[in-house]
Amino acid sequence: MSYISRLTQAVIDLDALVKNYQYIDSLAPNSNTIAVIKADAYGHDANKVAHALSATVNTFAVGFIDEAMALRSAGINNTVLILEGPFKENDFQLAQLHNFSLMLHSDYQIAWLRSLNVEFSGDIWLKVETGMNRLGFHLEQVDHIMTQLSQQQRSKLVLCSHFSSAEQLDSVKPVEQLAKLMSLVEKYHCQFSMANSAGILNWPASHGDHTRLGLALYGISPIGKSPLSQPLIPVMTLQANIIAIHTLKIGETVGYGDIWQAKRKSTIATVAIGYADGYPRNAKLGTPVFIKGKVAPLVGRVSMDMITVDITDLTNINIGDTVELWGKNISIDIVAQHSDSINYELLTRVSKRVPKVVTG
Ligand SMILES: *Cc1c(COP(=O)(O)O)cnc(C)c1O
Repeated sequence: MSYISRLTQAVIDLDALVKNYQYIDSLAPNSNTIAVIKADAYGHDANKVAHALSATVNTFAVGFIDEAMALRSAGINNTVLILEGPFKENDFQLAQLHNFSLMLHSDYQIAWLRSLNVEFSGDIWLKVETGMNRLGFHLEQVDHIMTQLSQQQRSKLVLCSHFSSAEQLDSVKPVEQLAKLMSLVEKYHCQFSMANSAGILNWPASHGDHTRLGLALYGISPIGKSPLSQPLIPVMTLQANIIAIHTLKIGETVGYGDIWQAKRKSTIATVAIGYADGYPRNAKLGTPVFIKGKVAPLVGRVSMDMITVDITDLTNINIGDTVELWGKNISIDIVAQHSDSINYELLTRVSKRVPKVVTG
């Protein structure tokens, strides 16, 4: 969209992004901290995020090669790791050409690798199944796969796996998963990578040669209110403006389904954001929003383009005022709790029609 009349936007604080990266990177000083920018950088605009980090970060990671190609088109020259590996045989040619590292997780990908006319010289990451049961080779398969790689490929190989519950400090599962990966690392003397954001923060032994930093890069802690030595700074602020204000008499209702009724004379602000923008439709009554330094509750059902907020207890609120839905004042985790969702989902669901506007 080139003409912008509606002021609904996701403000992206690139300065906070770089600070979060530098802080988390300092927690794993012996590892290469890879910035995970799949899914349009968790909804933050991958091109903008990549440009802001390209001088600081060595490697980016995305889900599949299409996302990596888009980064190259945008002029990003860093190494890019493809987390789900090749979807097609031809992806190896592109990876070779563009310096993409490929995570391989299944036999069909090894078969493609072996049928290439020219040996693939990009970096190979071998994904090992340690407890997620989603992607990866079983431990017993790795011996055979090693014999299918060239000396050159084995010398640069990264053995990797993914935690299923690294945010749970009291669980033995992360310890078991890491032990499985380490048994292979010791055997083959390869580099390794295990840690996502929660792994970096909770499990220092998992840092290895490369960490894969996603959520925490965007200023959201995957481990709740943990004793971090420095607070993470939320990178995205989702905001919209008040476009109408109504006064309701006792007994009147607001919005579809009449699910909220005024128990007192009430002032209701209508805000220009709805579920078509990625604000969750199932956000409950009382979900907080932030207006002019104060918190106000969502009332009535979330519509496609609008929400309604009870501003009876606030003073000096006017049409045009900015409302923060989540960001530095309203934690996205609170909104997630009020809508049976999680921070990751809310971030990645901010829709295309919401402009991403950069500050910092
Ligand atoms: C998305 C992803 C990450 C990043 O996880 P966060 O929890 O967001 O830090 C790391 N590794 C893999 C394989 C992923 O798919």
